[in-house]
Amino acid sequence: MRPLVGVTCSSSGPNETGESKRYTLPHDYIHALARAGGDAVILPATCDDGESAVRLAGTLGGILLSGGADLDPRHFGEDPHPCVGHIDPERDAFELALVRAAIQAGTPILAICRGIQVLNVAMGGTLYQDIASQVNGAIKHKQDAPRYHASHKVVVERHSKLAGMVGAGEVSVNSFHHQAVREVAPGFFVSARATDGVIEGIESAHDLFVVGVQWHPECMTCAHPAMLEIFEAFVAEAAARR
Ligand code: MN
Repeated sequence: MRPLVGVTCSSSGPNETGESKRYTLPHDYIHALARAGGDAVILPATCDDGESAVRLAGTLGGILLSGGADLDPRHFGEDPHPCVGHIDPERDAFELALVRAAIQAGTPILAICRGIQVLNVAMGGTLYQDIASQVNGAIKHKQDAPRYHASHKVVVERHSKLAGMVGAGEVSVNSFHHQAVREVAPGFFVSARATDGVIEGIESAHDLFVVGVQWHPECMTCAHPAMLEIFEAFVAEAAARR
């Protein structure tokens, strides 16, 4: 049975010419899930106070939180740093509700880039709003190389689910973020760090499959086949649940 996996997405507009709001998602997420044996449905943000998030979390085999714009820092009690970018309040509210509902329902979560940040904040953690100005000695986390290219190393914690997918110790990853997990949410632990100490992976300390990575494994599955194992492990959990 191929499990049904919900994938969150970005939106744009409505714009000045009256064009309707559009929902967008890079193909790489769908392709990686399909290769791993999962069927994807795209989840547009709704504004119904979290009711649809609860229904979706209880229906789907798994939830993939995709990358995108910055999370509004008010969700972790801060005013915006000057480097904070575009904010999508509807997406923020929907994804935060979706994370809490999925964890409540025991639905597996794979959280990528913005996703790991949403996951952490939804469960009570905080973020660096801008790595370059808030982390001393930070390396370059916004690479100019192609998306499939690994630009920096992370060290993966031996006793983590992530180590079972990509291996423990040094792993090379791509990097397209200017924010990162700061204080890890209660009930979670760090599964990977960059060489400058920036957190690049978190997981639930409980038996649930709730795995977040700061890089974009969906862009690396051809050049770095181990990255597909992240999707295979997630899809296997989603299939076991439904
Ligand atoms: Mn990075």
